[in-house]
Amino acid sequence: MKVAVIGAGAAGSSAARFIAGAGHEVHIFEQFEAGHTRGSSHGTSRIIRRTYPDPLYTALMDHAYALWTDLEREAHEELYVETGLLTFGLPGNRWLMDCRRSLTENRVPFEELGPVETARRCGGLHLEPDEYGLFEPGAGFLRADRVIRANLRIAAGHGARLMDKTWADARPDGTVNGEQYDAVVVCAGPWINCFIDLGLEPRLQHVAYFDAPLERDVPVWVDAGEALYFGFPDYGRGHKIGRHLYGPVVDPDEDHGLPDAAVLQELGDVARLRLGASYSLREADTCLYTVAPNEDFRIGRLPWEVPAYYISGCSGHGFKFSVWFGWLARELVEGRKQPEDYPRFNVTPSPSESGPE
Ligand SMILES: Cc1cc2nc3c(=O)[nH]c(=O)nc-3n(C[C@H](O)[C@H](O)[C@H](O)COP(=O)(O)OP(=O)(O)OC[C@H]3O[C@@H](n4cnc5c(N)ncnc54)[C@H](O)[C@@H]3O)c2cc1C
Repeated sequence: MKVAVIGAGAAGSSAARFIAGAGHEVHIFEQFEAGHTRGSSHGTSRIIRRTYPDPLYTALMDHAYALWTDLEREAHEELYVETGLLTFGLPGNRWLMDCRRSLTENRVPFEELGPVETARRCGGLHLEPDEYGLFEPGAGFLRADRVIRANLRIAAGHGARLMDKTWADARPDGTVNGEQYDAVVVCAGPWINCFIDLGLEPRLQHVAYFDAPLERDVPVWVDAGEALYFGFPDYGRGHKIGRHLYGPVVDPDEDHGLPDAAVLQELGDVARLRLGASYSLREADTCLYTVAPNEDFRIGRLPWEVPAYYISGCSGHGFKFSVWFGWLARELVEGRKQPEDYPRFNVTPSPSESGPE
């Protein structure tokens, strides 16, 4: 089969690797250069964890972890760093309690740590006296940039062609930029609205990197409070801190300018609290979320004349599943799976909402 994959971010690069690896002819369309910084997938790290408030995602991670192991083996490089994850908050915090339940139901090993134990075992990370954390030892972070490069390299090894700096003008007859394909997989991230209206919102997010005199054994962490701040240990670029609370809805084509000073100030306050008073800002970056109303992924088919699928709505937590998206893209293209097999993700829009712009 001749397959067009639209988008070379985490999802598209993974889809290309799987589909090309199955022996199909694959063309990957990417409007910018591979590894660009205008979408959702750039940067050094993304958290990988089974600690989710929703057992569906905790359970799905079993398959994803197995697929990450395969990718590491195939890529011959380290893509996953197991640091453990501390998810913390106040007793009674709903998110934290749901995570605890989900881990327990799925028999994922975890420990409960108080502030003193956390400081001792987590490289000096600070919890307030009334906070406690769930420590998942099997979690950590993915080396995001390396993952995309590995996917594209392996896909290319199977003959996939990357058409970078090329906008894909895909049509319901299965043509892309005038060339006919047997199947199309759309992994357009924040540009999904150019293909189908699923009510998804591109939102502008920030991360900042701080220097702080902490030990290297700080795990990745998530503060279960309203803003859902998250942090990474320093693996060369500084301690990375971000905020899951959504930023403003933006047009992905616009230049988003410099990182917002107020958000950086807020992330600095988090650094002071969690990493200690002698922190300093090293650099900052922006990134886009593609947000679905309930944060569930969106996986479905386009009503086209050839089999055409979209994988979207990653809602700020999709990187760890990107290897699974790639596997699923191959299964969809080869007909072993249908979007309807995943009813939580296959939320069908009304006919008037479908069709490319
Ligand atoms: C700040 C931040 C922190 C995050 N932290 C985590 C985390 O810790 N853990 C986690 O699991 N996830 C995390 N995520 C989410 C994760 O990074 C995303 O879910 C994932 O990267 C989405 O990948 P994607 O391939 O769908 O989108 P993208 O990476 O945006 O890729 C889509 C690509 O499609 C291209 N494209 C679109 N339309 C066309 C077209 N017509 N023609 C050609 N090219 C086109 C775009 O240029 C783009 O390169 C985070 C995201 C952000 C922004």
